[in-house]
Amino acid sequence: MNRPTVICKTAADLRLPPNLIDYAATRAVFSWEAVRAELAGLPGGGLNIAHETVERHAQGACRDKIAFRFLGVKTTRDIRYGELSRLTNRFANVLKSLGIGKGERLFLLSGRIPELYVTVLGSFKNGTAVSPLFSAFGPEPIATRINLGEGAVLVTTELLYERKVAKIRSQLPTLRHVLLVGEDGQATSVPGTLDLVTLMAQASDDFDIVPTGPEDLSLLHFTSGTTGTPKGAMHVHGAVATHWATGKYALDLHADDIYWCTADPGWVTGTSYGIIAPLLHGVTSIVDEADFDAERWYRILAEEKVSVWYTAPTAIRMLMKAGAEIAKKRSYPNLRFIASVGEPLNPEAVWWGKEVLGLPIHDNWWQTETGGIMIANTPAFDIKPGSMGRPLPGIEAAIVKKDEEGKVSPVDTADTEGELALKRGWPSMLRGYLHNEERYGKCFAGDWYLTGDLAKRDADGYYWFVGRADDVIKSAGHLIGPFEVESALMEHPAVAEAGVIGKPDEMVGEVVKAFVSLKKGFEASDALRLELLGHARKKLGAAVAPKEIDFLPALPRTRSGKIMRRLLKARELGLPEGDTSTLESS
Ligand code: AMP
Repeated sequence: MNRPTVICKTAADLRLPPNLIDYAATRAVFSWEAVRAELAGLPGGGLNIAHETVERHAQGACRDKIAFRFLGVKTTRDIRYGELSRLTNRFANVLKSLGIGKGERLFLLSGRIPELYVTVLGSFKNGTAVSPLFSAFGPEPIATRINLGEGAVLVTTELLYERKVAKIRSQLPTLRHVLLVGEDGQATSVPGTLDLVTLMAQASDDFDIVPTGPEDLSLLHFTSGTTGTPKGAMHVHGAVATHWATGKYALDLHADDIYWCTADPGWVTGTSYGIIAPLLHGVTSIVDEADFDAERWYRILAEEKVSVWYTAPTAIRMLMKAGAEIAKKRSYPNLRFIASVGEPLNPEAVWWGKEVLGLPIHDNWWQTETGGIMIANTPAFDIKPGSMGRPLPGIEAAIVKKDEEGKVSPVDTADTEGELALKRGWPSMLRGYLHNEERYGKCFAGDWYLTGDLAKRDADGYYWFVGRADDVIKSAGHLIGPFEVESALMEHPAVAEAGVIGKPDEMVGEVVKAFVSLKKGFEASDALRLELLGHARKKLGAAVAPKEIDFLPALPRTRSGKIMRRLLKARELGLPEGDTSTLESS
């Protein structure tokens, strides 16, 4: 179908006056100091995310307003701002009674259950940093991250503990306590663990927030690079200024919104925009504890009267595949703004939103390291389907190139491909990778933070995603480091070497595909392929494990011994092999 290249907005497209009306004027007067002045700050000075998100509302007009509505498989549970304050105080007291202090790390491994949200916010109150893990991780990614982050406490469910953690517990030397949530809130009695329900019941409702400052650690989000172990991106309490500004401008949150962020808090979107930003703006959030199901999602949109919906391209493609008829069974009169993040959003999907739900999908861009949305399509502005939008107020973006001497500088000409860079200094910028100063240093060239993404900027200032500059894989919105997958495969006795790539996939963006060569004495066979797939899945979990494995007699390597993933990918896709001058001749 021939569609225009721009979706022009008119007043009829806006059900409420948007928070960002004049892009240029707002950018011109914007200052982070002014945003900080919107925040309350701790009574005795300092800044704490839990105070901004919970206490400020619990002590004010929002006390009886629903903060979270949890849609369980069997039941629905509402937690109001006042109750959230009491529960998070209790959890902070639990941590204190266990001797867990400021700056220590708590890991979380659970589905989207109320205890997860209480744990995150209660930890902030205690000054304890939180590192969420994705519940579909297998034992290996869990152990790697807890050990790298020197986790002192793990909060998880009885089921996940028994399935994934119990057998690796002895490999987690820093972990002093494991707190378990039982099935359906039942008490647990698993050896070597504590029962969270009992501890919460014994804890006091009162807690004085441990004084934290804007530079104190709040969240540790692990992300993957091309090589080496995952990197723990360190975020601070001061990041809350970005969450406030982007909640206002990029998600256009207004006080009466019913907001649904479909991301799991195991990933950064689920914490920054599934927990922090909506609470800052005192809105009601829907949390669906169940897995994706098209019928269920449309029912939630309609019955919960969702007004602002933040989701992801893979989910939108799955809805598109389920067919427009399911969507058309209901109407969505309350829905006024849809945004998406995490992977390229096809122009087709932007139009699908407009045609099926009556609203185009607004793509936006950011990453674990940026802590918050940097580039966005906002409600008032025309959309160019396929573009990620424009830098938000307070964010200076550029396309940069390296010259022959390695000097990085912005490219002024429109439509030129280069690396997407951001001028350092926005409040939610990562403050380091835990114990990896060197890798952190490599993220910067002077004042520019280098994102690792290739992009273009057009003459109107809209940014267009081109691809990653490195070998990381984006599958269903999740960033997967090839090295982690290769290492797990290499632990199988038959595998001599492994190389892992992202293979383009219409539904999930990329699927993880592995190439392995075998040790002497092992023969390639379908049975061995299945065994390797099972081995990887058991170790890595469904979210990270390869979906396809091919056998090769040997993998292409550079003369310095690095596996040439780029070449594996080119061969897999039948693309030109590019520069192979460093290829080892075997
Ligand atoms: P993560 O750190 O896991 O959130 O992944 C961040 C990466 O996801 C970015 O560096 C991009 O490669 C990709 N990404 C995020 N948002 C978009 C988007 N709107 N369009 C294209 N790629 C995106």
